[in-house]
Amino acid sequence: MNYNGQAMSEYHERRQRLWQKVRAHEVDAFLLVNVEGSEQPNLRYLTGFTGTFGVLILGEEALFLTDSRYTEQAQHQVDLPVGEVRGRWLPMVMEKIRALGAKRVGIGSTRTTLYLFEELRKAGEGLEFVSLGAPVEELRRVKTSAEVRKVKEAVELTEAGLKWILTELRPGMSEHQVALELEFWYRKEGADDVAFDLIIAGGPHSAMPHYRAGNTALRKGEVVLFDIGARVDGYCADLTRVVALGKPDPQVEAVYKIVLSANEAGIRAIEAGASGIDVDAAARKIIEEAGLGEKFGHGLGHGVGMEVHEAPRLSPISEDTLVPGNLVTVEPGVYFPGKFGIRIEDLVVVSEDGAQPLSSFPKEELVVI
Ligand code: ZN
Ligand code: ZN
Repeated sequence: MNYNGQAMSEYHERRQRLWQKVRAHEVDAFLLVNVEGSEQPNLRYLTGFTGTFGVLILGEEALFLTDSRYTEQAQHQVDLPVGEVRGRWLPMVMEKIRALGAKRVGIGSTRTTLYLFEELRKAGEGLEFVSLGAPVEELRRVKTSAEVRKVKEAVELTEAGLKWILTELRPGMSEHQVALELEFWYRKEGADDVAFDLIIAGGPHSAMPHYRAGNTALRKGEVVLFDIGARVDGYCADLTRVVALGKPDPQVEAVYKIVLSANEAGIRAIEAGASGIDVDAAARKIIEEAGLGEKFGHGLGHGVGMEVHEAPRLSPISEDTLVPGNLVTVEPGVYFPGKFGIRIEDLVVVSEDGAQPLSSFPKEELVVI
């Protein structure tokens, strides 16, 4: 039971799994320090806390510390005793770790700065801090059905927003205007936020895979690339579709078909046990066979969850193997600098029998507006 009188919370269960995992490294405590949001997704995953400063100490007991800005919020969000730091926080953290009788303390290394690691070592006389890689991120790769439902909600909202903005889209609107109106719509319809700066790229800008949105006006005859996502209840969506403002060049149509085939081949290649390299290759092969291999520079996809880019990765240099519960994008793209680019991105859940799509926005043909 936790403070709210509920059965064991999902957070408690996650902390238990983390504890079992880190214990294999013979540590007797695990420390997670979120300063200025540095560990915000990992700390939220383990405690539900959404603030920018919080410390989780896992050992024989679990403790949560924050400062006075967040004490009340943490009491509502976190199913652990909440301690309030006054003055310098490092000595208090060390005191709590020592009180647990811990000597060897594990810490994740992906978000811990070298500066913080050195400060911990200085303040923690008699304690040994051990870098453990990415134990929380490794747990986060495999989503529960409740997490999949949250991402699905974010995807549905993202798609509804796209459907709406396409009815508003006109030549003369600037990319910025489209991005802002869409973001406003998402927030109005219940999103916490957007999952990333929405990418609205008109004409030649669509050839830059991570372009954002600028003051350029959209023009008739151009393609417009939307790479967009809402964040709902802490979970992200990530979706890309390209539309044409008026009849496009025949080359645009031809490239669209190739990218669509690659997207479908990538989705078909997904199953538990498939490697990130093989899934990428299945899609890349289609683009290479069309003689456009050079124009597809990035990886095929990435995991999505509380962050828009997480493990596992689908790419020629991936070291990952898919397991049920992974949630990944499939987003082949072909880019002609100075002219146009086409990318089609869907989000799927990995299951034993293949990929279960979460996105369903029509893609079979290039939509002409
Ligand atoms: Zn995207
Ligand atoms: Zn993506």
